[in-house]
Amino acid sequence: MLKPALFVSALALLALPAAAEPIQWPAGKKAAIVLTYDDAMTSQLDNAIPQLDKAGLKGTFFLNMKAPTDLLRWRTVSRNGHELGNHTETHPCPLSILPGRPNATDTYTEARILGEIAIMNSALNAIDGPKPRTLAYPCAQTLVGGQDYRDALRRSGLVKYARNGGNLDASIITDATAIDLLSIPASGSTDSAELIAHVKRVEEAGGLSILVFHGVGGEYLSVSAQAHQELVDYLRNDPDIWVGTFQDVMDYVTKR
Ligand SMILES: [Zn+2]
Repeated sequence: MLKPALFVSALALLALPAAAEPIQWPAGKKAAIVLTYDDAMTSQLDNAIPQLDKAGLKGTFFLNMKAPTDLLRWRTVSRNGHELGNHTETHPCPLSILPGRPNATDTYTEARILGEIAIMNSALNAIDGPKPRTLAYPCAQTLVGGQDYRDALRRSGLVKYARNGGNLDASIITDATAIDLLSIPASGSTDSAELIAHVKRVEEAGGLSILVFHGVGGEYLSVSAQAHQELVDYLRNDPDIWVGTFQDVMDYVTKR
């Protein structure tokens, strides 16, 4: 029989939550970085993808419906091993973020947002064939008509993983058991020094970070082509970092 003091310690141990185990990365890597790009921008096709292809790195491109001009280019992007993800059909956002738009999520229902995600899945399937899809919430917002739609999205089975918002260093994932597959944090910067410093901290933590970009060397919320190249060069030259697509890295992390 346990002495009282030992018994109390044993109870205390039982009450502790299971300790988070560090993620064991494949092939001796120490950390993972996912590069994601939103809004189906032509500057990504013109600037980001050539840089990634030259470095042999794969990214994830979250597309919403745009004019079909670039459609065949996106097909080539997928054939070259990058991931095409879902960013809804019309990119609806709250009026507080994008005022004056007719497709404000303030007036949306769950059915309408899920319909937009289903339509975009079909469009993506037309571009590069049917396959499981991942989602980036437009404007990193998960409310429609004041209600969070993540549970409805989960029940719908439309996407495997969904990317949310976050702040740079607060978005480093180190505990795979604590991940909500439809609320995966992500963050971004347009400053290459800030991005590289962040990548170093991800590496020190042995974790995963999902980075978000918009325009690259053009359009809006842009990182310059040079800053993007500096990050790509850093990642290409660091043998300890796995750079994979959102779906590949999340598949790896969640199967373990
Ligand atoms: Zn967007």
